[in-house]
Amino acid sequence: MLIVVGARPQFIKAAALHRALVDVGGWRSTWLHTGQHHDEALSGQFFQELGLPDPDVRLTPNPASRELRLGDMMEGIRLAIDVHSPFWVVVFGDTDSTLAGAWAATARQIPLIHIEAGLRSHDWGMPEEVNRVLTDRMSSILVCPTHAAVDHLTREAILDHSTDKAMPSVRKPWVLKTGDIMHDNAIHFNAQFEADKARSGRVLMTMHRPSNVDDPTTLWSWVEAIGAWLKKCGLRAVWPIHPRTLKGLEASSRPWQERLESWGVDAVDPLGYVELLKAAHEAPLVLTDSGGVQKEAYSLGRRCVVLRDSTEWTEQVAEGQSVLCPAPAALERLADGLLEEGAFTPGALYGDGQAAQELMGKLNLMLEGLDG
Ligand code: UDP
Repeated sequence: MLIVVGARPQFIKAAALHRALVDVGGWRSTWLHTGQHHDEALSGQFFQELGLPDPDVRLTPNPASRELRLGDMMEGIRLAIDVHSPFWVVVFGDTDSTLAGAWAATARQIPLIHIEAGLRSHDWGMPEEVNRVLTDRMSSILVCPTHAAVDHLTREAILDHSTDKAMPSVRKPWVLKTGDIMHDNAIHFNAQFEADKARSGRVLMTMHRPSNVDDPTTLWSWVEAIGAWLKKCGLRAVWPIHPRTLKGLEASSRPWQERLESWGVDAVDPLGYVELLKAAHEAPLVLTDSGGVQKEAYSLGRRCVVLRDSTEWTEQVAEGQSVLCPAPAALERLADGLLEEGAFTPGALYGDGQAAQELMGKLNLMLEGLDG
């Protein structure tokens, strides 16, 4: 299989798949890094700490525009398919690397496995939503982390043909329900955190969605609302600042570091994965616009204010562990409410921590079925 990764959340998702591949053995995999994220903070450190293999293929797409980068990634993946002749192409999530991998596999008629298929925020203004929907249309095996994801595909008439004795294809895709592989990781690493530090530390905040951070006025209204709430509660926060958000902060003429300090916000560079999880474990509350961090909050039993008006992880909102915060003006009330409710014991929304093993088991069974 050709495994396509390129952005921070994909390195993390791939770590769970990598552990499962090592466990089951016998699979030959080629790793391709699209170069979407390429620096140490968003890429290098994850390969080391998660023990991912060095990529066999590393692309260097043109960063001058999103379109040029996407085109270069498509072309690079297509060439890698021609050289390595994979039986499957595997993509994760909803980034431009996901879409590029899907396009290249489709162009070369190689069956595509989409891990994290079927998620929908129903916000077509989000590039991630466009990437998800298009990738699902091109996929042969759609690996869904939740029942809601399966339902979305059914509603879109992407129907499951896994009972047919035929190779899955775009026309006859297989829809597999496993758990969520980011949840696998959170469970895997959570074991090492000290129980008595739970909820004893700083609030964890992360923000990097273009709609929140690209416009300095919007960014500052979020930051001011969060700062005022922290001050009111006498809490501190740790904020690993994404490079995109840093640009937004630096674009403004305000002395942002001093202002953050005055509110008790510790601005730090992007954290490694285990450090990030540890920060969530120690946080009394999580404030984020990241899909991955929302889920990690759930996996660790922390409540989470989602700094968006929609989410693709709707179940945890429906169950009340997370709440959507559509605008800074709503933050104080929503954060107060969740802080008061405290921690919870996570249920099985995202499976039992063995989603990647389950997927590999299903793929092995499928191949045996095709041989037989
Ligand atoms: N993450 C990290 N360090 C940080 C912030 C996030 O390791 O400083 C991890 C986080 O644990 C999560 C993933 O990055 O697993 C989410 O990536 P991101 O927020 O970039 O993307 P999204 O989930 O919104 O697609």
